[in-house]
Amino acid sequence: MNEGLPATAKPISRLIQELNKLPGIGPKSAQRLAYYLLRAPKEQSALLADAILSVKQQITLCSTCFNVTDADPCLICRSEERDRSKICIVEQPQDILALEHTKVYKGLYHVLHGAISPTEGVGTGDIRIKELLERLKNSQVDEAILATNTNLEGEQTAMYLNRLIFPLGIKVTRLARGLPFGTELEYADDVTLTRALEERQEF
Ligand SMILES: [Zn+2]
Repeated sequence: MNEGLPATAKPISRLIQELNKLPGIGPKSAQRLAYYLLRAPKEQSALLADAILSVKQQITLCSTCFNVTDADPCLICRSEERDRSKICIVEQPQDILALEHTKVYKGLYHVLHGAISPTEGVGTGDIRIKELLERLKNSQVDEAILATNTNLEGEQTAMYLNRLIFPLGIKVTRLARGLPFGTELEYADDVTLTRALEERQEF
């Protein structure tokens, strides 16, 4: 960064600052993106700004599975082609993208929006567990696949869910250990995820 040089024009430093708040964007990348946008045609910035605003204005959560959607229920919950006897439970909406990308799984999903983490003060009532249990009680689901992350919080959440779901007479499975410990689903490659899905085991 050019700390020693005369200050950057205010609008530019403001853009750099905002870009720098995004995950994975360090000060150098923020600076590069800001100057790129400055040089690019005005329409490109307008499209980008509009896309960012629309996502906040038009996207809501599906009231059934809590995936992000612009129509409620979402496409997956609405689809006639999905296998309604299986439900895959994930931490975040982007995990669904990763699993759908493998094209192996044809069942339904449920997004918890987090994992139980006593250290971060996330309790069982802070994620969508109550909604999941309600949903399972009135469903044709015969298998619940626990696809939470393979880190400590994900494992704790899976164990807790297993205790609650098993008494409902639903088979509980967990993604196979093809996934290395500490992996976040959204970053896993297709081969690893496919194998983990195919070799999922009874919990
Ligand atoms: Zn849905």
